[in-house]
Amino acid sequence: MHWIRRAILATALAGATALQATAQPASPAPSGRFIVVLDAAHGGADTGARLASGQAEKSATLALSVRLRSLLSARNIAVVTTRESDATLDANRRATVTNHAAAQACLSLHASESGSGVHLFVSSLAPAPATNFPAWKTAQAAWVTRSIALAGALNSALLHAGINVTLERTTLSAVDSMICPAVAVEIAPARSPDGKVTAEPDDAAYQARVAAALVAALADFRTEARQP
Ligand SMILES: [Zn+2]
Repeated sequence: MHWIRRAILATALAGATALQATAQPASPAPSGRFIVVLDAAHGGADTGARLASGQAEKSATLALSVRLRSLLSARNIAVVTTRESDATLDANRRATVTNHAAAQACLSLHASESGSGVHLFVSSLAPAPATNFPAWKTAQAAWVTRSIALAGALNSALLHAGINVTLERTTLSAVDSMICPAVAVEIAPARSPDGKVTAEPDDAAYQARVAAALVAALADFRTEARQP
């Protein structure tokens, strides 16, 4: 996932709670149907990283998107995807599709050979009040608090499933223009304690495990969003 600037670091595990404590009050609760946007990063001419299996990141993210869509549909959660094929989409197009969907959550999906488990990224924009005409590229500022809450839900479910998690704040080209809770989810290899890879990011069984945890988290997040 070459696009991420890792300069802004790094709160692991307990970070979600700590970040929530320092952020400002949540944006107004969403109403209506719970809609999730799945944004399979890269695609077309933008292949993303090359995975150890030889597969391109763009294919691994699309496969994960397809898995998530079917699991979410089975839970009666509406899904909008930014791509269903090997299409080239720029960051603006991804944000436009997401914002048009009026979603309550967006997962922007990446895959990487570095690190382990699942890396969660929330926009590094400072929380700001919602405005009627949010500026493009910083629109996410009004949603950062909810995005951190979403990352916290994802973190809990992944840890519960025995998957290693790291959580960071960073600049996210598509997410920073999104007006909904949004988290970049990067699937990295599963590793044993000595660092040996036990499953590649495009391994079907491993992706299924990660997808199940992500969907459990989204179901929890839906329930939590409906509390008064
Ligand atoms: Zn990527």
